[in-house]
Amino acid sequence: TATGAGKPPLYKIVMLGDSGVGKTSLVARLTNPDRPLNHDISATMGIEFDTQMLDTPHGKVKAQIWDTAGQERFARVLLPTYFRKAKGVILVYDITNAKSFESLSERWMVQLNDHASSDDLAKLLVGNKSDLEGSREVSREKAQQFCQEYGMEMLETSAKSGENVLKSFEQLIGIVHDRA
Ligand code: GDP
Ligand code: MG
Repeated sequence: TATGAGKPPLYKIVMLGDSGVGKTSLVARLTNPDRPLNHDISATMGIEFDTQMLDTPHGKVKAQIWDTAGQERFARVLLPTYFRKAKGVILVYDITNAKSFESLSERWMVQLNDHASSDDLAKLLVGNKSDLEGSREVSREKAQQFCQEYGMEMLETSAKSGENVLKSFEQLIGIVHDRA
């Protein structure tokens, strides 16, 4: 930034996607890379956020990551607060759950466009649970088509193995930087 070596910028990042796709697990994996995934994490009830300093190729960034419940009714009421001042959004689906992918265009992109000035937001599509290749229901090609349609980039991640988890947050921050 113009002010030079000061405090790292704070970037609010929002997680979106159906319940069960692994949003909370991805954030947990990012903030606790050495902690194995807890298999009975309960569904998120409401809004939580986690702050994590990230040493990205674009410099140090303080990421404030907001995590919501997937489809709980009251989440709707909280959506304006959720998106307020957000710099980036990670749209998550589960590669073993076709419905979670359909929800992106049927629900989450709609809410995103209703509540946030989409042009101001960096977006990244994340297909989680890449460790479950044998149960895949959403092809990479299908996801790439979605990306082309909405002009975003994508990665497949595993909160279980850690594959691409840090990379996806770094990539999103890279997109934020490119827009600034
Ligand atoms: P959320 O509702 O989107 O926050 O999803 P959770 O993080 O609570 O995860 C839902 C379930 O999927 C939990 O049982 C997790 O242990 C499991 N899970 C999350 N990510 C992965 C992953 O990458 N691979 C596998 N195999 N399971 C995962
Ligand atoms: Mg959750």
